[in-house]
Amino acid sequence: MAEERSPLENEIRRLIVAAGPMPVADYMRLCLTHPEYGYYLTGDPIGTTGDFITAPEISQMFGELIGVWMASVWKQMGSPENVRIVELGPGRGTLMVDALRAAKVVRDFHAAIVLHLVEVSPVLQRQQQERMDTIGLPVLWHATLDDVPTGPSIIIANEFFDALPVYQAVKRANGWHERVIEIGPSGDLVFGVASDPLLHFDTTLPRGLRQSPDGSIYEWRSDRVTLELGRRVRTDGAALVIDYGHAWYGLGETLQAVAGHQYADPLRSPGQVDLTAHVDFRAVAVSAETIGARIHGPVSQRDFLRRLGIDKRAAALKTRAAREKEAEIDIALGRLTATGTGGMGELFKALAIADPRLGQLPGFYP
Ligand code: SAH
Repeated sequence: MAEERSPLENEIRRLIVAAGPMPVADYMRLCLTHPEYGYYLTGDPIGTTGDFITAPEISQMFGELIGVWMASVWKQMGSPENVRIVELGPGRGTLMVDALRAAKVVRDFHAAIVLHLVEVSPVLQRQQQERMDTIGLPVLWHATLDDVPTGPSIIIANEFFDALPVYQAVKRANGWHERVIEIGPSGDLVFGVASDPLLHFDTTLPRGLRQSPDGSIYEWRSDRVTLELGRRVRTDGAALVIDYGHAWYGLGETLQAVAGHQYADPLRSPGQVDLTAHVDFRAVAVSAETIGARIHGPVSQRDFLRRLGIDKRAAALKTRAAREKEAEIDIALGRLTATGTGGMGELFKALAIADPRLGQLPGFYP
């Protein structure tokens, strides 16, 4: 007997039958944010009981150091009396609660903050609301960054960009063809390629990739969010993007599915597994610079956290902790900064997009 299809798979099949093969990006967007069946709309995916775990959920040190980063950036901005702290995709709200607790020591900064959280998931928004009740600051929620009022801003995005839809193209003898999802001969969803090549696609590629061998796959995202970040901060503020991905362009597909902390097939159970793809930091940098912002990094998460003082922070926590907690702190420090398998230190990177007048930002320079 065929395995039961998820409600979103039925919807996707209906769309493919009606409109033809579906670009990978449209598929990813529906899987993650379909208003009724999208992965982020239907549950809380984060934590040991969920599908994946993120840096702020590993240790309070991560959010705390970002709080220190925000306070220094605010000073570099000339300590404005009003500043919007914006977070894209705040998850369970852990990063922001830890950050604001750490930043409290800079009293004027704390008093200047209005918090704006950009979140698609009603489930996570409710969790964030509960956490934010404890911090005593004005908080507003928005469905997209476009709805956040402009003005002096510090914007944080941890593991947000990897959830934005990616497009893929495959090189063939007669040019690049968009990669699509279609219904295969066996009746299952399968990858395919659009029959007509993408016109003049070569000219949009980084020069080094134009002569790629047949069969190569190139992945890209819309630069809408990056341009919007750049537009907002270039005259008064800074944005910090932390995510996993590559610092330089390249070939290959990185779309991956995760469920219950295991890799899964991205075309099975759409809407019920997490889908992400690596962030192309070079592409982010290029579009942010195009709109007149200055780029800092990317640097590895390891270097970023070390320069912000994670080793000292871990040592301080250990002196106050009970014996059995000491080991936990060391394990968390390792996961956040280690470069080998299982460590986030090298694969994860930090990049800042900022007003060029701010000078060097903390964490990005030796
Ligand atoms: N930053 C958090 C959560 C990362 S998971 C952490 O580090 O733990 C991704 C987050 O982005 C979730 O909160 C998810 O609901 C949100 N999200 C994903 N796509 C989104 C979109 N298109 N618009 C707004 N929020 C989105």
